[in-house]
Amino acid sequence: MFLYNTLTKKQEELKPHNKEEVKIYTCGPTVYHYAHIGNLRTYIFEDILVKALRFCGYKVKRVMNITDVGHMTSDADTGEDKMLKGASREHKTVYEVADFYTKAFLSDMAKLNIEKPEILVPASENIDMYIQMIQKLLDTGYAYISNGNVYFDVSKVSNYYELSGKNQEELMVGVRDTVTFDTYKRNPFDFGLWFVSSKFENQAMKWDSPWGTGYPGWHIECSGISIKYLGEYLDIHCGGVDNIFPHHTNEIAQSESYLGHKWCNIWMHGEHLNDKNGKMSKSNGEFLTLSLLEEKGYTSLVYRLFCLQSHYRNQLVFSYETMDLTKKTYEKLLNKIKNIKENISNNDINIELTNIYKEKFKKSLNNDLNTSNCLTILYDVLKDEKLSNKNKIELVKDFDTVLSLDLLAEKKVDTSLEKYILEMIEKRKKAKENKNYALADQIRNELLEKNIILNDGRNGTTFEIKQ
Ligand code: AMP
Ligand code: ZN
Repeated sequence: MFLYNTLTKKQEELKPHNKEEVKIYTCGPTVYHYAHIGNLRTYIFEDILVKALRFCGYKVKRVMNITDVGHMTSDADTGEDKMLKGASREHKTVYEVADFYTKAFLSDMAKLNIEKPEILVPASENIDMYIQMIQKLLDTGYAYISNGNVYFDVSKVSNYYELSGKNQEELMVGVRDTVTFDTYKRNPFDFGLWFVSSKFENQAMKWDSPWGTGYPGWHIECSGISIKYLGEYLDIHCGGVDNIFPHHTNEIAQSESYLGHKWCNIWMHGEHLNDKNGKMSKSNGEFLTLSLLEEKGYTSLVYRLFCLQSHYRNQLVFSYETMDLTKKTYEKLLNKIKNIKENISNNDINIELTNIYKEKFKKSLNNDLNTSNCLTILYDVLKDEKLSNKNKIELVKDFDTVLSLDLLAEKKVDTSLEKYILEMIEKRKKAKENKNYALADQIRNELLEKNIILNDGRNGTTFEIKQ
């Protein structure tokens, strides 16, 4: 498999340390709010990677963290603590916020058919590992204590700028106006490993450490969790492009200094989903969630297809116009497959042709996860007259182990969409009881616009979704 490696800036053949099993670490969500659909794009790309590797015969071990402590709004060590921000917004404890948004994240993942990573761990449950790493970094001179906090000294590593491909001056340009540098650091890009003195006096999550009661920095979480669960050698590390600097840059610096050798061979980064105004981001306040899309009549898998139509390394601009087109494409595709499935007249399998298609599909995946080409191959299969209908369905089943678009599933109603429709039906019933017929009609029309038809019967109102 050939994958684009941010570290070397070229496509490279994957050569896992253990030939049979690929070890992957994927940075997880900071659970202070819902994931926006941009975040979900990154998780979809990672899901495709895992499934593509399996399609190509590898076993995969994937680990993901849940960031519930230590992440500041600036990604460097300044700004507000994201978890505290969530807690004060919702008048809840940090623990309640983390629990609520972790569940919301898992539900989004399930709706998008994203496989749950084999190991998914909250950052707050691995404190011993960070303490052990930080102690070694202090003992070996890579870290220092200043104003009570422990910092990593980036001047001690010669390859600090390799991943970003930018030097200190170039990186400073991006952050100079937005980040106030901590004056206790020796170099501007030094980063916190352990915070004791914090401007967040109300920091809820604190642990004892050799350097005082405090909490870990964000970057050490991913290094610690990865090394603890996947060992000293990692094959692939993923995230969105905004993770390249400082997060992944700092992960490499501390992990390799701790281990004393190269840590991870391939670094893969998903490009951003933008809206008309630029990068979609939670700190902007307004952002699109999967539930919002569902309320507007787009199922989660329409969004998955929307993402798969373009390459993960290309920026993607979100628009409702494109979502409408994708919705139509998805419905047509499902109908086409349903039609084929209902018209199987023999069980003929053309083995030679089947293998050719499978190889083509594999080749597209091997070419840095070219999912849009995989979709083209799927269409080629559906219209190939040399394949029996049975043969086509078998190939669709096979391809869907990677695409995960429920191509063969009986039409199922999205549970959250169903919830929304039932709420609307209830609201309409109340409106009719109150003789507010205008509102009742408005609700019916609103649903109709989303292709949802209400049928009033003797036993109440039922609904159907038009294809
Ligand atoms: P966060 O929850 O902010 O830590 O982000 C979770 C993941 O989403 C990270 O891998 C980010 O790099 C990624 N991400 C953030 N913004 C976007 C975006 N607009 N489009 C795609 N991925 C994003
Ligand atoms: Zn991370």
